[in-house]
Amino acid sequence: MLGPLARRFANLAFGGSCFLCRGAAGAVLCDACDADLPRLGGPLCPRCALASPAGEVCGRCLARAPAYDATVAALAYAFPADVLVQALKFRGELALAPLLGMLLAARLGRDARVDVVVPVPLAAARLRARGFNQALEIARHVAPAAGARLEPQLAERRRDTASQMDLPHAERARNVRGAFGCERSLEGVTVALVDDVMTTGATLDELAATLKRAGAARVVNWVVARTPAPADA
Ligand SMILES: [Zn+2]
Ligand SMILES: [Zn+2]
Repeated sequence: MLGPLARRFANLAFGGSCFLCRGAAGAVLCDACDADLPRLGGPLCPRCALASPAGEVCGRCLARAPAYDATVAALAYAFPADVLVQALKFRGELALAPLLGMLLAARLGRDARVDVVVPVPLAAARLRARGFNQALEIARHVAPAAGARLEPQLAERRRDTASQMDLPHAERARNVRGAFGCERSLEGVTVALVDDVMTTGATLDELAATLKRAGAARVVNWVVARTPAPADA
């Protein structure tokens, strides 16, 4: 849930003022707030985007290779990136989607060469309740910047699952098992999965596995914000 501070942020109109500090701004954020965003730094595992000495594939990915091949994350999931992500997802502040999409697009290097961009799909009931899929709203602004085709219907979420946020990390993989389907043949296709936050990566792993079974040659994660390594894993 959003705290009172975040709710106050989220209730602000954008007109001419920074979404975070209310100072004068020509964009959603003023230059100072934009510069202060917690960008993901230091050597990272190229596969899961967690800290890894010398930027090598980390021990966890070596011990149990995820179905995805790489992860690019724009920000650390820390204040105020969490405020922005939650305001989009839970309060429908859709004007934040272009900002988050462009932050992500700016982070893409050579990994940007993919054929299609697929937002992590929501189950139909959740989509109806929320009215929009935040991953799709972000992906709309990433796909053109990456010169890739946006394919929101390529994968479907076949069953609703308990919200991952409500589950202990250890149960998240089981919770999403079999949640996705893909009817198309993706033989030789490279795919970027777009989502707002990557925590354990269980959802992205399951979706990537589904697309690989459909023939995808390479699946990469493009996420706005990455949580640091959980203490229990
Ligand atoms: Zn500001
Ligand atoms: Zn890793």
